[in-house]
Amino acid sequence: MSTLNQTHDPKLESWVASANSVDSEYPIQNLPFAIFRRANEQEKYRGGVAIGDQVVDLAAVASSNVLGTGLAEELAACCEEKLNRFMAMGHGSWSKLRHALSAALAKGSAEEAQLTECLIPQAEVEYDLPARIGDYTDFYTSINHATNIGKLFRPDNPLLPNYQWVPIGYHGRSSSIDVSGQSFRRPKGQLKAPDADQPVLGACKRLDYELEVGIYIGDGNELGDTIAIDEAENHVFGLCLFNDWSARDIQAWEYQPLGPFLAKNFASTVSPWIVTMEALAPFRSAWSRPSEHPQPLPYLDSEQHRTSGGVDMNLEVLIETATMRAEGLSPSSVAKSNFVDSYWSVAQMVTHHSINGCNLVAGDFFGSGTQSGDSLDKVGSLMESSQGGKEPVTLNNGEQRVFLEDGDSVILRGYCEREGYRRIGFGEAVGTVLPAN
Ligand code: MN
Repeated sequence: MSTLNQTHDPKLESWVASANSVDSEYPIQNLPFAIFRRANEQEKYRGGVAIGDQVVDLAAVASSNVLGTGLAEELAACCEEKLNRFMAMGHGSWSKLRHALSAALAKGSAEEAQLTECLIPQAEVEYDLPARIGDYTDFYTSINHATNIGKLFRPDNPLLPNYQWVPIGYHGRSSSIDVSGQSFRRPKGQLKAPDADQPVLGACKRLDYELEVGIYIGDGNELGDTIAIDEAENHVFGLCLFNDWSARDIQAWEYQPLGPFLAKNFASTVSPWIVTMEALAPFRSAWSRPSEHPQPLPYLDSEQHRTSGGVDMNLEVLIETATMRAEGLSPSSVAKSNFVDSYWSVAQMVTHHSINGCNLVAGDFFGSGTQSGDSLDKVGSLMESSQGGKEPVTLNNGEQRVFLEDGDSVILRGYCEREGYRRIGFGEAVGTVLPAN
């Protein structure tokens, strides 16, 4: 687990002036990674690090040799079109590059003149998926969400008995995960009204978002090996925002007995920037269970995990309708929640996933499951906000939604803040619904 060090010093400022503004998502304490290139040019994608409103082009850093020779292997890996090889190098390498960039971007650094040549304004770039995601697993770690959804699908039996013992998940599909800016056709599928004798094929009528945290695996484990709970975070490269778009009507008909299938794999959207676990060190929280709940089995429990297994990460979901876009109105905030309320932690997901010897691989991706708090203004899906499609949600321009309509964009945002530290942001994951084919 990452500990506090000089890269988290709240007094640290950068010679990149925009990074020092109090509302910057990317102060020098953050330094998240992405894959990017200049928009509208035939450049290769490569790795970059955000600083203020700029991107540090890691390919330019590599060729200029501005950071010296000690990071040659790490920088060579960051010049590739995906970050998998850098992710596989492990937390020692990630941390070494973070510390070198922190020093070189700090006010008074001798590298300022040379590194200035490696900056590209974020306004001029486009992003790609930061990793080749081999395998994708979606968890279900919010007990509020599991209970709310369970009540809607199974009123008499909302929370199944395994929930408090097993970090429940299913294997999803990675081919339809894309980076922020994704737009997708409303999916079609089998729909069966509760009172109908048989299903029909049609366009989804109950299209929803899911406000999730995305987790990128760094170096994995050999097939047959397991990852102990106190080692788990050394295998995690970092976190992002993740919208696991969901077709609730397709889901309701198909999900038993094997779980989600076509209701989930038509589109999923990640934010471009990955905030590393080291950057998150100031925002860790105790992990606990109410004493009347079952406590985790020993392999999912430890003193270190109880002390700091949680991540205090603020999450928000906003809707921008086509009308809002046409009229230049701000998106409407629908809900806010916090990852710290998750019933299962990042480390528990990693350890549980490997307990049977399953090998995790660099670039594998986990969804945390929808993060919902304990009241209606904190729920991470419209299925919950509209109470199963019964109570319309009123947006700030007076429009109403029970589920998403064509032309709607959904925007996820996230940030961490804590007294005594610089606030760091996750940026946005934006996706837009197009009409069905
Ligand atoms: Mn999900």
